[in-house]
Amino acid sequence: MELIDSHAHVDDSRFDEDREAMFERTRDAGVTTLLALGTGPGPHKLDAAMPFAEAYDWIYTTVGIHPHEAKDVTQGHLDELARLAKHPKVIAWGEIGLDYFYDHSPRDVQERVFRAQMELAAAAKLPIIIHCRDAWADCMRLIEEVWRPTGLGGILHCFTSTLEDARRGIEMGFMVSFAGNSTYPKTQNLRDVAKVLPLANILIETDAPYLAPQPYRGKRNEPAYVAEVARILASVRDLPADEFAARTAGNFRRFFRLDGLRVSAAAES
Ligand SMILES: [Zn+2]
Ligand SMILES: [Zn+2]
Repeated sequence: MELIDSHAHVDDSRFDEDREAMFERTRDAGVTTLLALGTGPGPHKLDAAMPFAEAYDWIYTTVGIHPHEAKDVTQGHLDELARLAKHPKVIAWGEIGLDYFYDHSPRDVQERVFRAQMELAAAAKLPIIIHCRDAWADCMRLIEEVWRPTGLGGILHCFTSTLEDARRGIEMGFMVSFAGNSTYPKTQNLRDVAKVLPLANILIETDAPYLAPQPYRGKRNEPAYVAEVARILASVRDLPADEFAARTAGNFRRFFRLDGLRVSAAAES
């Protein structure tokens, strides 16, 4: 089975003890590409995932500050992100957005930092990875207002909203990525969305070490388990798991232009 994990936090300290073995299990599961989120433990460490993107050709990374930490952001952090975004293995800006479930930062501050990072991502010409929890109306409004005109699109990561929001996101150039929580018994609503969206707009992810899919629920999640997300969503779509996995992997490569452009860039250098 060929798989791509569109969202994992492989820098997390929970992987410190067995990271190399975890990467081996990831490859053994068929994961050919992985997007390692660069948000790290917070704005005091903005290049958290960079070492892995530099060490492994199959790992790409992002830059960004999670809405949880919006309250700690200074202009210096934003300048540093703009600098890091120029790294050739940085293919997106995120995860950014709004989280009204935890409210770790005041909502007006979350919005200000979200807007500021969308402007920086637009200047860097990078798509954005959206983290949105219990804040879909505001997320969609800000994306529509600030991001849509850029035409750069992005990923609605760990999608938890309605079919209507998923379709609106697709209209604005987004891919919709489903995580381990889409496999839980109580999230039939997410599987209903995954069943009817255009297959060309679907990605899958682990969000490791969080949200382990059903058979591993409650344990530490890891990128190899993206196979379980593929297996369950494939059954929802009446497709063989390997076909669904390959299609979502192709979607990721197409969205980030990992086939054509990177090859020609390498040939020119
Ligand atoms: Zn998230
Ligand atoms: Zn995440």
